[in-house]
Amino acid sequence: MADREKLRRYQGKRDFTRTAEPADGGRPRTKHPRYVIQMHDASTVHYDLRLEIDGVLVSWAVPKGPSTDPSEKRLAIRTEDHPLAYADFEGTIPEGDYGAGTVLVWDKGTWRNRTEKGGEPVDAADAVDHGHILADIRGEKLQGNFALNRFRVENDKEQWLLVKMDDAAADARRNPVSTEPRSVLTGDTIAEVARKAKEAEDD
Ligand code: MN
Repeated sequence: MADREKLRRYQGKRDFTRTAEPADGGRPRTKHPRYVIQMHDASTVHYDLRLEIDGVLVSWAVPKGPSTDPSEKRLAIRTEDHPLAYADFEGTIPEGDYGAGTVLVWDKGTWRNRTEKGGEPVDAADAVDHGHILADIRGEKLQGNFALNRFRVENDKEQWLLVKMDDAAADARRNPVSTEPRSVLTGDTIAEVARKAKEAEDD
């Protein structure tokens, strides 16, 4: 599918004369694809996990955010593909607009696709289609392998589970969602991001 086609749902939901979110853009990185998690203080606070696959950010909303404890399964609801440039978006989506609220870049880095079937590597886009992804994440807060498994599709809504694999980076005592709330881009809290966005708007 052409990237433009993939982003049609994303673009259709937004008015780019109002929101500061990017309409498109970002250069594909085939060797070191992007990984990002954005904290999103919308109607409810959630964490948007995005993995660069074939020119877009394939995305999931994780209500509780990721865990580093392999015994914790976190619900991840697939959302529309986002443009690559979205990985750097931090700011406030205006009231009344789709996804209204403040977005903070909670973690960022690259990822490697480790998905296999019968000992053979599975292409990342095929892994998404099949509903099983093993992602080796190299972020600032999260590292190591995470599994994403689709367990239900209801009215076009794909429900997945995000689970930390039991490797060297697994740690049941950490709780980065609560102990490391700041932006990896600016060091700001979500309140500081919101305040700066408001000041910029008032200027
Ligand atoms: Mn969101």
